[in-house]
Amino acid sequence: MTETPSVLVIGGGSTGCGIVRDLAMRGLDVTLVEKGNLTHGTTGRMHGLLHSGGRYAVSDQPSARECIEENRVLRRIATHCVEMTGGLFVQRPEDDDEYFEEKLQGCRDCGIPAEVLSGEEAREMEPYLAKDVKRAIRVPDGAIDPFRLCVANAADAIDRGARVETHAEVVDVLVEDGEIVGVEVEHGEKDIGIGNGEPGTREKLYADYVVNATGAWAGQIGDMAGVEVAVRPSKGVMTIMNVRQVDTVVNRCRPKGDADIIVPHETTCILGTTDEEVEDPEDYPEEGWEVDLMIDTLSELVPMLSEARTIRSFWGVRPLYEPPGTGTVDPTDITRDFFLLDHGERDDLPGMASIVGGKLTTYRMMAEKISNHVCEKLGVEAECTTADVPLPGSEDFSVLREWMDEFGIRSPVGRRSAQRLGSRTDDVLGGWDGPNPVVCDCEAVTRAEIHDAIDHSGTDLNAVRIRTRSSMGNCQGAFCCHRMANELIHDHDELVVRDSLDELYQERWKGERHALWGEQLSQAMLKHMLHATTMNRDGDPAASDSNVDFAAFDAGETATAAAGTTGDDPDRAATDGGREGENADS
Ligand SMILES: Cc1cc2nc3c(=O)[nH]c(=O)nc-3n(C[C@H](O)[C@H](O)[C@H](O)COP(=O)(O)OP(=O)(O)OC[C@H]3O[C@@H](n4cnc5c(N)ncnc54)[C@H](O)[C@@H]3O)c2cc1C
Repeated sequence: MTETPSVLVIGGGSTGCGIVRDLAMRGLDVTLVEKGNLTHGTTGRMHGLLHSGGRYAVSDQPSARECIEENRVLRRIATHCVEMTGGLFVQRPEDDDEYFEEKLQGCRDCGIPAEVLSGEEAREMEPYLAKDVKRAIRVPDGAIDPFRLCVANAADAIDRGARVETHAEVVDVLVEDGEIVGVEVEHGEKDIGIGNGEPGTREKLYADYVVNATGAWAGQIGDMAGVEVAVRPSKGVMTIMNVRQVDTVVNRCRPKGDADIIVPHETTCILGTTDEEVEDPEDYPEEGWEVDLMIDTLSELVPMLSEARTIRSFWGVRPLYEPPGTGTVDPTDITRDFFLLDHGERDDLPGMASIVGGKLTTYRMMAEKISNHVCEKLGVEAECTTADVPLPGSEDFSVLREWMDEFGIRSPVGRRSAQRLGSRTDDVLGGWDGPNPVVCDCEAVTRAEIHDAIDHSGTDLNAVRIRTRSSMGNCQGAFCCHRMANELIHDHDELVVRDSLDELYQERWKGERHALWGEQLSQAMLKHMLHATTMNRDGDPAASDSNVDFAAFDAGETATAAAGTTGDDPDRAATDGGREGENADS
């Protein structure tokens, strides 16, 4: 063993980012590898709910207790990632009274503050609720930004000496003398992302211990090591509306069912979701009826949704797990709790543990449990401090308000920047030298913020997007993608910038093609005309090989990107955004 024990964490979702921070804070030599960008997996495709635990208060009380505990911790350590909107469990006249009482009692049993409101009181809070709602239970649900949360964890880990490699896919698990000793990664072809791996090369990374935090992909890493990790991936759809029709998390108070929650998120609100088991976390159908179901069913709670504009839809895959032999048939009944699998004890293959299941809300607790385990294995005595030490940007929320007063930026732009940056606002905006125009109008992101993100994430504009929210608002990048690329052009090679711009276009388009009707169709056509025609990105002679498949408007899985043909089933679109095979991950 080396002097400072080394740990290799696979997976840059909330769990992996939480682990790398925790271990770095305990003084270990830790490396995180992620095959895409940070949040490439389920973490970048979730609902954004900071659970109070209310959703599990009847069906899964251990998870409910963990949620309320971590809800309180995250409100303390991640103030700039959390918006405490509050939540309502709303009962309609046809919903069961008995279940309402069970929910209330369940919340109380689990220590979740819960207060009953009359229908009228609920509508005073949320005026667009249906007129006939009967009553509601108020709980401390909130909204959380998964992107900012992961970046803050990873950034803090890097500051404490950790190595973080994005676009580095584990292709093999190295086993020597019956023990796992590391992994082999393949660094992406393009020079984007964080880390110092040589693009297009393979690298063997040795460590004293390996942690498999790949969520729904954990079984694939298990296969590479020759052990079984039987994750049961379960997909769910979410649809984003162009404005916040509600300011509180609105849940339907009924036992279980699809389309029962609306989460206000930044400038939008997100409708969800479904729960359907899938074989492969990256290859499953995204179907039009799932989106319709969200709008039709949730309109029963908030009628104006039936006429409102949707801007995009996306799907995520839950990394559900239950111990072998449990055999739950319905995925909605599988526990949301998390499990630590020590492959030494379980499979007689020491050197690696997997962490599966759980929620984003409980990511820190998951990280603490597995970090305790790793320290025990490596004989390290160091306490976990992640519940007390604020994440970067969250140290002191009053800093934010003071800073705004001092610099007189009460404008919406200043306020929005300060909300995102938290206590880093002073450094980022105050430290910027030169003109600071708004680059993304919808989300009020300025040049200083874009450059801060570029400094930390390199030329990957999707990484800039998740750090700043630029191109994530109402126009979905119609007017800002090229402005973001423009911020790169002075310091980087033109082809790299063009590629990165195309990646960003493709990523934005992927989610929009499921919401093409009414006003959103006009918006999408305008965007297509701007990008493909006015800016000539679909026929640009200077474009590099990886240009966007602009012809793939709702292309099915049979679409041929190069030929520009569309799929034969308009309701079934491939999860790769109409792209062909090898480009699908980007
Ligand atoms: C529809 C839906 C809605 C949800 N809503 C909520 C919610 O509102 N609130 C909440 O608390 N939770 C929610 N969840 C659950 C939550 O999103 C997940 O539990 C959590 O994000 C999982 O994080 P993770 O880090 O374990 O997995 P992931 O985020 O999937 O991270 C695993 C990472 O491993 C990487 N990886 C895979 N294979 C390799 C490889 N070979 N080499 C390198 N890297 C690899 C992947 O790219 C991925 O980034 C939701 C889940 C779904 C599906």
